[in-house]
Amino acid sequence: MDGGHGGERQGHNAWPCTTVPVNIVGWAVRNRSTLQWTDNSIDIHTGNLDGGGAPRCSPDCGRFFHQDGNYSRCPGGAARHYDQSLWLTKGFHGGAGGDWGQRMGQEYFTGALNQENIRIYLHEVGHTFGLDDFYDWTPTGQCCFLMKAGSAAQITQFDTWMLRDFWRHLKGRYGL
Ligand SMILES: [Zn+2]
Repeated sequence: MDGGHGGERQGHNAWPCTTVPVNIVGWAVRNRSTLQWTDNSIDIHTGNLDGGGAPRCSPDCGRFFHQDGNYSRCPGGAARHYDQSLWLTKGFHGGAGGDWGQRMGQEYFTGALNQENIRIYLHEVGHTFGLDDFYDWTPTGQCCFLMKAGSAAQITQFDTWMLRDFWRHLKGRYGL
């Protein structure tokens, strides 16, 4: 992902971006023939398997593996890096999310592609952006929000206020 930065201060509490475009910049497959297209306009990673045998994009190009921003071992360098990955696994129940990306069941995700809100995916993206789970407590005055698993089917006002609170603490790093 890459943020589009406006020249003026935009939005809540000096949030500087007018849009946050999401670009697919790579595919990971065990065999190239799995992809039923032949052009290479998007990077295709083959031959990189994780400890469980699942195909993954080259760690040399991943932000999670190079938080110092050094992509010197990535073919194409920083311009061809990726920020996070979506990891679909057959038969995987529920989901997982972190600064590395999101993981969930292949059947669930592909079956939900036409939904306005892919509930588990949105929850896991919340983790990618730093939000916690609420397994054992509920904030006063709240009942239902996406990061309290199973209590909401879409992003709520309370979820967005939690993200704004993160920004309140982090914006100083950017001189804002
Ligand atoms: Zn969670």
